[in-house]
Amino acid sequence: MDKTYFRGLTGDIVTPESPEYDSARQEWNRAINKFPLVIVYCNNRYDVQNAIRWAEHRNVQVRIRSGGHNYEGYSVGDGVLVIDISRMNRIFLDASRNLLSVEGGATNEQIYDYVSSKGYPFPGGTCPTVAVSGLALGGGWGLSCRNFGLACDSLTQIEMIDYRGHLLIANCYCNSDLFWACRGGGGGNFGVIVSMTFSLPPKVYKVTLAEIYYPDTDTCEQAEFIKIWQKFFEYADRRITLIASIYNDESDGRAVYCRGIFYGTPDEAAKILKPFGAIKSAQFDYHYLTFLQAITRIGESYPDSQKFKSTGRFVQRKYRDEELVNIATLVDNRPEGSVYTAITLYALGGKVAERSRSDTAFYYRSSRYIMGIQSVWVASQFARQNVAWVNERFQYLKSITKGSYVNFPYSKLRNYLEEYYGDNVYYLELVNRKYDPYNFFKFPQSLYSGERMPSDGYLYSYSG
Ligand SMILES: Cc1cc2nc3c(=O)[nH]c(=O)nc-3n(C[C@H](O)[C@H](O)[C@H](O)COP(=O)(O)OP(=O)(O)OC[C@H]3O[C@@H](n4cnc5c(N)ncnc54)[C@H](O)[C@@H]3O)c2cc1C
Repeated sequence: MDKTYFRGLTGDIVTPESPEYDSARQEWNRAINKFPLVIVYCNNRYDVQNAIRWAEHRNVQVRIRSGGHNYEGYSVGDGVLVIDISRMNRIFLDASRNLLSVEGGATNEQIYDYVSSKGYPFPGGTCPTVAVSGLALGGGWGLSCRNFGLACDSLTQIEMIDYRGHLLIANCYCNSDLFWACRGGGGGNFGVIVSMTFSLPPKVYKVTLAEIYYPDTDTCEQAEFIKIWQKFFEYADRRITLIASIYNDESDGRAVYCRGIFYGTPDEAAKILKPFGAIKSAQFDYHYLTFLQAITRIGESYPDSQKFKSTGRFVQRKYRDEELVNIATLVDNRPEGSVYTAITLYALGGKVAERSRSDTAFYYRSSRYIMGIQSVWVASQFARQNVAWVNERFQYLKSITKGSYVNFPYSKLRNYLEEYYGDNVYYLELVNRKYDPYNFFKFPQSLYSGERMPSDGYLYSYSG
């Protein structure tokens, strides 16, 4: 393409002719293979505005990318302009008001490093390289969420560049409908969020990193683990949040690994977590660490990238014994080429459930936990088998759950808007129509500005 075609764009421009094009078009999920027309690494808001205006004049579709961790690769696309804001990652602390403002490209790791140096924890996610704007737009599950709420629950303000290139501020008082929508309504829908302001939780000295490992488990023990888990989280102390993987690993075999953060001492954690010792093989490990040490250890388990297929559903009820066995059986046979299959449980409840489902766009407030399914492979030729493996098992998961987590999107999901947003979808569409009336920002599962009637009797309170 003639270089003059890209005249008007500012920032660092990467086109198919650039030597760095192949690395720049990659997502964290290396199973995604898209070929954008141009990638603009924005250094400031002006670059974002120029990219939007350029795309609008040339009728080129845009995608927004911050951390590049979307499971389905919705932050890139074939023939699109990618507005990449990963270099806009400055962080500002207003210590007198415990407010933290971060640019849209700041990652979990960058924020953890910064706030921990001042003594604060932060309700971000587990993977160091996920961008906090992408995370919080979909809700933002993390290992502090039962204690402090989702990442989006700590948001006090966002700044967004809209389809006209205008900068909008949204908070409880100003553009409050947009502010409501940006707390759970998913990334990529309304505009480019260039800044988020969070209210920080109280400073903390140390936390307990708890780990429970069950090596060489069989289906019955794995089912037993989920039984303990579902009972435990009915009444669990909200200071503890856990994530657990029931997995089948190429080298490790079948096992369960559960870990989490407890805002208290190891002694207290050991008492609270006693029920998980009912399975004989349980190995407990407790470390009393600074928040940064704990979250860094968790983050160290993530590779730089992976090829995977995964998604996640909300669990609303306790399962019967035969259902628990069915769930554990899902990871029985790894597909050809798979190195790891897993069912992963992400605890909810506590502070997450204290808000109502219409308080923010994150609808599934009262769910017990998220249940994810995943297969990971190395050689590209096995992609089809691994994707099919997840697709087949997803049918069962769907039949026993209600609603999908928008941060764990699934391209094959039917009625995806209702699945992601429940009844909040109607209001989200109204907000979308107001702030992106021409669907300038779109991707395969985006909100659209079409007509839809709200369901009867559903009240929206979108200011809080
Ligand atoms: C290894 C891994 C670990 C994860 N761990 C967690 C976890 O602990 N908790 C959790 O809740 N989720 C987790 N996720 C899911 C993750 O939160 C979502 O995929 C999130 O949307 C990623 O944001 P991103 O900016 O990194 O990705 P991107 O691919 O850049 O963006 C994701 C989506 O949001 C849009 N978007 C991103 N930034 C902006 C912005 N500034 N303005 C407007 N739209 C934007 C994009 O267009 C895209 O649609 C994980 C994902 C991976 C791959």
